[in-house]
Parts: sequence; structure tokens; C-alpha cells
Amino acid sequence: MEKYAGKSILKRIAIGKMLFYSKGEQIVQRKSVTDVDAEIERYEKAKETAIDQLHGLYEKALKEVGETGAAIFDVHSMMLEDDDLNDSIRNMIESQKVNAEYAVAASGDNFSKMFAEMDDEYMQARAADVKDVAERVVRILYGRHDASNLGDEPVILIAKDLAPSETVQMDKSKLLAFVTELGSANSHTAILARTMNIPALIGVPVGEEMDGRIGIVDGNTGTLIVDPDEDVLKRYEAKREEEERQRELLQTLKNKEDVTLDGKHIRLYANIGSVGDTAKVLSNDAAGIGLFRSEFLYLEKNDYPTEEEQFQAYKTVAETMAGRKVIIRTLDIGADKQVDYFNLDREDNPAMGYRAIRICLDRRDIFRTQLRAIYRASAFGNIAIMYPMIISVKEVQEAKAMAEQVRAELRAQGIPYGDVEQGIMIETPASVIISDLLAEEVDFFSIGTNDLTQYTLAIDRQNAKLDAIYDSHHPAVLRMIQMVIDNGHKGGCWVGICGELGADQTLTETFLRMGIDELSVTPASVLPIRKIIRETDLGRSK
Ligand code: PEP
Ligand code: MG
Repeated sequence: MEKYAGKSILKRIAIGKMLFYSKGEQIVQRKSVTDVDAEIERYEKAKETAIDQLHGLYEKALKEVGETGAAIFDVHSMMLEDDDLNDSIRNMIESQKVNAEYAVAASGDNFSKMFAEMDDEYMQARAADVKDVAERVVRILYGRHDASNLGDEPVILIAKDLAPSETVQMDKSKLLAFVTELGSANSHTAILARTMNIPALIGVPVGEEMDGRIGIVDGNTGTLIVDPDEDVLKRYEAKREEEERQRELLQTLKNKEDVTLDGKHIRLYANIGSVGDTAKVLSNDAAGIGLFRSEFLYLEKNDYPTEEEQFQAYKTVAETMAGRKVIIRTLDIGADKQVDYFNLDREDNPAMGYRAIRICLDRRDIFRTQLRAIYRASAFGNIAIMYPMIISVKEVQEAKAMAEQVRAELRAQGIPYGDVEQGIMIETPASVIISDLLAEEVDFFSIGTNDLTQYTLAIDRQNAKLDAIYDSHHPAVLRMIQMVIDNGHKGGCWVGICGELGADQTLTETFLRMGIDELSVTPASVLPIRKIIRETDLGRSK
């Protein structure tokens, strides 16, 4: 039995088989082989597995994002069946007597270069696809896993690091827990783990030798136990059952109002990152969605999601929520959420760089596509829009002008849309200080405490070394929250919190006393927070 200490992201216990996940550029070694036929046979088998995986991904994408979004997996399957690519791989194994991994990687590179040099823009764009397909086959040949294919059994995923774009592609039903060596407690990968309600640890030294062994993730103490002794395993199984009983107890709070003992009603909403998370919002009985991080639709893809794909995603969420509020945050790309196809320049300070509303107001075609999709979907439910990373009144006016332009276009085309509230995220000190002016422009404020803490304390939320002093309870942050609530109310706005601090149960009563109108939290935090709201009496002094 081995024990490793780390930092916990979510206080739960998971027990299961560990799977080591390694990503990125694969180093492919050239090796000589003697049995050429056996090597070709290995390749053929890996190819068939890859085609099976791609068919599975096609079906999954078809359900989640529709035909246009799924088509890419069909293109990838066809590439693998392509005679020229297959001839090249087989010839290389035969004539150079090399291993299949090398032949696939080298042929993939050659074809990718050939596509990149073509005149036709469509063909140039296929260069990345050939590379992607070749990497899939190489991974299979090496017996490695990829983000979208974790195997059949649920696992504890261990990795050196995980990017949000990888986490979002993982099949959530196959994940018992995450354990990573790198990453910070405030990164979007950590936030995703909380949204999925799975235990996660960071800062744990992990390695390939852990693959396939039994692990226990103890989110209460921040410990990973590898190959537990029988009595330890039994003890943890009992603890896990107790957790389950506590969760069941909370179920009695379903269908109860979010109201304090003295009668103040609170909007208790949930945060989501994907269409699939909506099921958790409903099963935890949240009254709405207070933050739909729409950028994850972009992170899951290899190319810009079309208006139709986005429309389908927003419409599905709006319809599923059946009249409950759905607040869609417009694209918040940049910083730790990087997407290759945006071709963003490398920056020294990406958190303070070209991101979020700054990109949207600059690359207006992207913004317009998203706004059209949101407004079209608004005819199917109760949708609101919120703009991220605001620092000035001018930005809000420009975003609203874009929204007005989109509404005019839709009217001219006879396309229906609903009544859509417009709000902003308050996540920069600048927006706090001018919140009186901003309140005149919008219907609501939603305080993003993750970034507000980062920018107020000048602490990079991605820097794991600074986790200990990244303090969202800092008086400066709490005073800012009070200021925003007061200015919002004076200006006729309702005010909520959608950052992780909103789910901090030690502060729920404080927020209620400050006058907060809405809290948007991870789906699993809804019922515990409801319990506190219903036990709070604001009429009684603290
Ligand atoms: C925040 O900054 O608090 C927030 C909710 O947005 P994100 O975590 O996605 O940056
Ligand atoms: Mg933010």
C-alpha cells in the first residue's frame, strides 16, 4: 500500500481502477522488424479499432450537436480507409522493415504536408485531420488512451496535467475521479470536476506505473492510496456508503422553495459547461441555470461551431429546462481555455490578454454567429445573455448594439425570438468600481468571484504555488461583493454570484445578509445550499 498527499478539489471518496492518461505529442521511435506480415497485421487491427472508435464518436456527437458537428468523425473514418494512405503505410513497413507506429506517423506527416501545400482552402484544412487520425492509430498501437476513449469500466483517471479541452471531451460516465500532478485548484479543469461532482486531487506525484492498479481517492483529506490493504479498503467502502446516505437525506429537500425562515426568496441556480450537464441541474432541482459556460462548446471541437450547431445546443438546454431561466455566458475563450483553431498569438500574460468580450468585439463574425444562435434558441425557453470580463460601459453598449443588430436581422428574416434579459459578469475590479454606471445598462449582474479574486489580489488563479494565498474570503473581495449588490439594487438590477465562492457554505448566510438575489453553484451544491437558506433567519441578528 502506498499513500500520496495532494490538494483536494472536491470532498468525496472514490474507489476503483486507475488509468494513466498521457496526452499530446507522442514520441514515435523507429524500430526494425523482421516479421513484416505480423507488423502489417498489427496495423490493420489498430486501424479497425480506430474506425470503431470514430463510429462511436460520430454517434455520440450526432446526439449532442447534430449532423454537421458529427460529420468530422465520418471524414476521419474515410481518411483511414483511403487507399493512398494505406498503400503508403504498408509499403513503408514492407520496404523499410519498420514498426507500424513509425510507418503510420511518417505517412501521416507526409500526407499532412501534402494537404497543407494544396491551393484549395478546404484541402489545406484537412492537413490537421490526417495528423489527428494518424495519432489516433499510433496511440492504439502503443496501447495508450485518449481523452474521448477511456475504455468500458469507470476509472480513476491519473495524469500529469489536464487541459480543459481534454477534460470536456471525456465521457463523464466513465470517470470516478481525477488525480493530477500539475494544475491549480482554481483552474477550469478543477471547476469541471466540481461540476461533474467527482472527487479530484491535484499536486499528487503520478506515474505510468500506477496504471491498472486499485486506488482510493480521499477528497476529504486530499490523499491518494494505491493498492490499499484489505481493512483500509473496507473502511473506505463504509465511508463511501455513509456519504451516499447523507446525499440521499438531502433528496428530501427536492421541490422545496429556496426561502429563508423570514420569507426572503433566493434564486438558487446551477452552473453548467455542456448540454449534458442539464440532467444534473434537474436532478438536483435547481431553479435555473445561472452560468452556461458556452466556450466549452468551442473547446470540444476542431473548428468553429456553426450557428446551427450552437442553436441546437442552446435550444436543447432551454427546452429541457422548460421555462426555468438559462443564462448563457457568451464566449469566454483565452487564458487557460485555449482553442487551436482560433490561432491566438502566444501572450506573456494571457489572463490579462486578448480574451472573452475583447475577442468578441474584435472578431465580430464569431460574436454575431453566437448571438444569432442564442436569440433563435430564445424562442424555445427562458434564455438570458451575459457578457464576460467587462471593464467599461462602452464594451457593454457595443455588445448590446450587436445584440440589437442581430434582433433586427432576425425580425427582417421573420425568425422568432423571445424576451431576453441582458446582464454582465462582474469579475474585474474596474467593473466593481463603476458598477453604479453599469447598472444603468443591464438587467442583472453576476459576480464571477474566481476572476474577481485573481484580479483583485493580483494572484494568477492558474499558479498552483499561490493556491494557499488565493483567498476569496479576503476582505477586499467581500467588500467588493457588497458594493456590487448595493450599486446593482440602486440601479434596478438583480445581483447574483456564479463564481465558486457562491457554493461556499460558510458564506451562504453572509451573502444573504448582504442582500444577494441569486446564487449559481455546481449542481451537487444546490441541495446543501438550499438547506442553509431554509435554516437562515435574516430577522435575527447574527
Ligand atoms: C468567474 O470568473 O468567477 C467565473 C464564473 O468565470 P470562469 O471561472 O469561467 O472564469
Ligand atoms: Mg471568469
